[in-house]
Amino acid sequence: MDSNTVVIFGAGATKACGGPLTNEILTRAFNTAYEIDREQFLPTLEEFLSDNFYAAQSGELPPLPLLISFLDTAIDRGHALGPKWDQGRLIDARRALDYVIFAVLEHDLKKLQKNYYHTLYDKLKKKAGTLPVTISLNYDIIADNALTRINEASGNDEGIFPDYLCDVASDLYRKKMGDSKLLKLHGSLNWLYCPSCNRLDVGISNSGVGFTKVLEQLYSEEKAKHETLEQRLTCQGRKCISCHSEVKPVMISPTYFKDYRNPHISRIWYEADQVLRKAKRVIIIGYSLPDDDLDVLYLLKRGLSHLGDNSIDIVEFDSDHRLAEKHPVGRRYVTLFGKRINWHTDGFEGFLDRFPIS
Ligand SMILES: [Zn+2]
Repeated sequence: MDSNTVVIFGAGATKACGGPLTNEILTRAFNTAYEIDREQFLPTLEEFLSDNFYAAQSGELPPLPLLISFLDTAIDRGHALGPKWDQGRLIDARRALDYVIFAVLEHDLKKLQKNYYHTLYDKLKKKAGTLPVTISLNYDIIADNALTRINEASGNDEGIFPDYLCDVASDLYRKKMGDSKLLKLHGSLNWLYCPSCNRLDVGISNSGVGFTKVLEQLYSEEKAKHETLEQRLTCQGRKCISCHSEVKPVMISPTYFKDYRNPHISRIWYEADQVLRKAKRVIIIGYSLPDDDLDVLYLLKRGLSHLGDNSIDIVEFDSDHRLAEKHPVGRRYVTLFGKRINWHTDGFEGFLDRFPIS
C-alpha cells in the first residue's frame, strides 16, 4: 500500500465518468425512467416535497444536501412537520429518499461509459508498485468497484474488497478484504447500518454483476438468501443480522449535518486525518472545496499543513484554462494551500492522458 500518495475524489470525478452530480439525483429520479420502485417510494417523497417545499409544486426541487439535512434534523430533534408529517412518516420519507438516491446511483453505475477511477489506479499502481490510499466524498461505489477489479485482476483471490477502515461485520467482506484503503467520509450506498446495535454490513448490489467475477458470484449467493442491497433496502430482505432491527444505508449530507454519532463514520474521519498527516503527495479530483463544507475543509487544512510546495494536485475542468487565481475553485485552494498546489484545468481525462506527471 502506497500510503505516501492519497487520492481524494469529489462529485466532479463521478460526473466525469458519466455519473450524476449530487444535485442532479432528485431531478433524475423524477424525470427519468429509472428502475425505481415507483409504487413504494416515489409517492411518499413527492408528497413530502410538495407539502414542505413550495417550489416543488411547480417542479423546482430543493438541493439534495438541504433535503437530507432537513429530514435528519427533524428526525433527530423528534419534531413533527405539521399534522401530516409525524416522526413515523418523516422516517418513511427519509427511507424513500435513501432508496431513490440508491436507485439513481445504481442505475447510472451500470451504464458508466468511462471508468477514469480504474485508469488512475492502474497508472498509479504501475508507477509506484502499489495502490494509493483513497478518500472519497461520494456515496457511489465507482472507486470501490475499480479497486475490487484491480485486486481481482492481480490474481489475489482473498484481498479483493477495499479496506474501509471501519468495523464491517459481514462475513463475506471480512473473508475477502484486501489492503487497499478507501475512506468514505460521507458513507456509501452499499453500507447498511443498524442504528440499534451499530452493526455495519456491506451489501452487494446488482451493479457489480458483470463487473467482476467475485462480485457476480457474491451477488447470486446473496440473492438466494434475500440479502442483496436491493432486497434489504426495499424491506424485502433480512433485517439486522444481529438484533433484527431495520437497517439503513449510510449516506450523510456533505454540508449541513454530520452524523458523528455513527461510530463508523467517526472512525473514518479519524483515520482520514491520520492518513493525510502521513501523505507526501495528494491528488484531489473534482472537489470544488465549497466554503460551507467546513468539516472537509478543516480536515484538509489540518492534515496537509506539513506538505511542501507543489505537492497537492488539484484536478478541475475549465475550458478557458484559467490560472488558479482567476478561477473560483482555484482561488479557494490557493487561499488555503498557497504554493503547495499544482493546478490542472484539463479535467480527469486530460490529467490521465498526461500521467505520470512530474
Ligand atoms: Zn442490529
